[in-house]
Amino acid sequence: MAKLPSVGKKSAQRLAFHFLSQTQDVVDQLAETMVRTRRNIRYCDTCFNISLSERCHICSDAGRDEHVLCVVSEPRDVFSVERTHHYHGHYHVLGGLISPLDGIHPEVLRIQELVERLRSGTFTEIILAINPTVEGDATLLYLNSVLASFQIKTTKLAYGLPMGGDIEYADELTLQQAFHGRTGI
Ligand SMILES: [Zn+2]
Repeated sequence: MAKLPSVGKKSAQRLAFHFLSQTQDVVDQLAETMVRTRRNIRYCDTCFNISLSERCHICSDAGRDEHVLCVVSEPRDVFSVERTHHYHGHYHVLGGLISPLDGIHPEVLRIQELVERLRSGTFTEIILAINPTVEGDATLLYLNSVLASFQIKTTKLAYGLPMGGDIEYADELTLQQAFHGRTGI
């Protein structure tokens, strides 16, 4: 339990005792769900969000705005933006941020796949919802140079997000404001 993110020794102990107090059925069900989910989860072939099939539920949703594309770093950022209920376009998950010191170069990220999607000519606006960190800025800079060849309106989140902050931990209102206050780059 203590190996889980954000779980210290005390919390780990509390969780362990909680599971011990539950019936065998409850614990079995939880364990089975975890194993089944991990086994069946995959990346969407189109946007690289986590999915249970080739196309995720967002890519398969005909009701989404097919002209707007929101580029995020990780699948968890998709969930954060979805929580605002104010964005109805599509997504593209890069799979990380550029960080040469950690060996994460642009080729490792799904930037080529993004370019391929933009070549389809469907999108008229790209929103770069990237964390305002050193790695995020490096990624934005790189994306900007890649996207320059496309005549597509490109914005980035600005107002509301603190410097060094993380989209994952932003509350709905802050993230909503960041979307409204997005600026051209
Ligand atoms: Zn998808």
